Amino acid sequence: MGGFAFRNHPSESVLAPLWAKALALSEADGDAGLVVVTIDRVGLSTELMGSIETECEDRFGLAREKLVIFCSHTHSGPMDWPSVWMKDDPEEIAKVEKYSQWMVERVVDAVGEAIAHRKPASLGFSQGLAGFGVNRRRARPGCRHFPGPVDQDVPVLRIADAEGKNMAILFGYACHATSLAGYEISGDWPGFACEMIEGRHAETTAFFIPGCGADINPLPRLLPGREVALSKMYGEIMANAVDLTLSTNDSGKERPLSGPLTIRRGEAELFYENIPGEAEIAVLQQHFDPMMRRSGRDLHAMSKSPEGIPLSLKYPAWVMRMGDLLWIALSGEVTVDYALALKARYGWETTWVSAYASPVKTYFPSRRVWQEGGYEAGDCMVSSSHPSRFREDVETRILEMVENLVP
Ligand SMILES: [Zn+2]
Repeated sequence: MGGFAFRNHPSESVLAPLWAKALALSEADGDAGLVVVTIDRVGLSTELMGSIETECEDRFGLAREKLVIFCSHTHSGPMDWPSVWMKDDPEEIAKVEKYSQWMVERVVDAVGEAIAHRKPASLGFSQGLAGFGVNRRRARPGCRHFPGPVDQDVPVLRIADAEGKNMAILFGYACHATSLAGYEISGDWPGFACEMIEGRHAETTAFFIPGCGADINPLPRLLPGREVALSKMYGEIMANAVDLTLSTNDSGKERPLSGPLTIRRGEAELFYENIPGEAEIAVLQQHFDPMMRRSGRDLHAMSKSPEGIPLSLKYPAWVMRMGDLLWIALSGEVTVDYALALKARYGWETTWVSAYASPVKTYFPSRRVWQEGGYEAGDCMVSSSHPSRFREDVETRILEMVENLVP
């Protein structure tokens, strides 16, 4: 299972099934203009993302920039990179690879079905609120004085057929899927939310689109004996927030969205603060923490490769526009300040800021979080085979890239 470093053996049972879902959108008579995929898993490696993109391009002629894949970031789903407890055991690694390959095929099939089954539809956008996402940086010892920004908006994109019957409901929230931490497979609270929404709206597919919740947790959580009940409760709160949002649409709150549908992909170059030398890497390789030792091993291998240790990381993002709606999809684990900054810049009513798109496996702190320090600021990076944390300008570079895409 992926998400928690403390786990030391494989999953034991299935609490709820995992889903991959695909939505294809285009202008009338157009090619697939945009395909959105959601997958119940913690993340997606560069290799798996590449396989999905290549297959979709070969089979359906879908260009890479038109495919946006979100992982729900459930910490109760499968992993992408072998856990430390596997100790490089080839049998365990083979199991992960077998599942991953099977998952890729299911995702590509879903994309094909979505493209093939397009029919005339109308789209509407509205937003609600839900309150269980709490800034988790305040929960750490000595950090209660930290400012605790959150993004509690619940953006809802409703897609209905020609008769006005709902076909798909996409909803977003900026909060980790970490209300469960055991050995049972599930989509965590977003999975329960989707299940409830689909139960209430027959023949409708519910898609969870994660927001900038890198520093946000569902709280309270992990109360012994109450974990699953709490997780389902958060799912129900979210389903209720979506239903409340939809029920106010009659009063004209929902904005109908028309074309044109545009999508752009961009990349920012994010520089690491420090490239470790041989002596620093040797210290890592002797570290007491097995994750740090693995980082040391990976960095050592990179330093001996012809390319050497990378000086920077390429960071992709997508900007989509449909009618009034500006939908920004950022990669990786993005702290909440990004969503607040982008909505302040482009308008709170019609800007949707999502994250966890594409396979970037680390945190992206705002300048404020970077300066405060701690896990999301970059401490997490050294134990996950990055040379160091990013430079202080990481937020500036990401926001500039988005700014260049928006026009
Ligand atoms: Zn995370």
